[in-house]
Amino acid sequence: MALLELQNVHTYYGGIHALKGISLTVEKGEVVTLIGSNGAGKSTTLKTICGQTRAREGKVFLNGQEITAMKPHEIARLGIAHVPEGRRIFPKLTVRENLELGAFSVQDKRTIQEGVERAFAYFPRLKERFNQKGGTMSGGEQQMLAIARGLMMKPKILMLDEPSMGLAPILVEQIFDIVNELNKEGMTILLVEQNANQALSVASRGYVIQTGEIILKDDARSLLANPQVREAYLA
Ligand code: ATP
Repeated sequence: MALLELQNVHTYYGGIHALKGISLTVEKGEVVTLIGSNGAGKSTTLKTICGQTRAREGKVFLNGQEITAMKPHEIARLGIAHVPEGRRIFPKLTVRENLELGAFSVQDKRTIQEGVERAFAYFPRLKERFNQKGGTMSGGEQQMLAIARGLMMKPKILMLDEPSMGLAPILVEQIFDIVNELNKEGMTILLVEQNANQALSVASRGYVIQTGEIILKDDARSLLANPQVREAYLA
């Protein structure tokens, strides 16, 4: 059984048919990437999985349990962490406060503290800056904070929406290194990217989405070598 499965998911924004029957799976321990150009429906796919937008048709399953109609906080509690596009951290709150908020459904102070320590072990840069306001950190640091916050709930799957967006090449490298490292430690990751080259280098499998439909799916190496993919997304 797949950890995450979408079956024929259709999502609309009013009259706009944004997802036209998306089916995909993510197995435990995998990094799967969803690539596609602007407006293809990548973010909408993640938003539909985490309950932020609703599928009008089709089903979403986590570990075989249907979550299609659940509320976002229920879905988060079941183990799906969503790190949205544009690293929406709380700019006026400190690094530590941002992390603590990531553990919103955890009551126990000690568990939260352990989560913060774990995040600091992963991202030493955040530890150095634990008291700094989120909004004054660099783009790369904010992205690290957004990912670290997503990890606070000890999710079963981490969904990252364009983590490399707007970052300098060296920081892009760092973010993809982190993705790799998290996966080595067992984290399952669904990675949305326009940066197809990098995404396919860290992923084991990929899906290509175009105007709300999956037009290609394959193992990452084959997609990297695919002329259609090369021309459209790796040029
Ligand atoms: P990008 O890389 O530019 O974020 P994307 O692949 O993530 O693109 P989506 O953001 O999922 O694409 O958008 C898919 C389609 O749905 C687009 O046509 C977009 O204009 C439309 N859309 C997205 N959000 C809304 C909204 N809140 N209201 C209306 N239409 C929307």
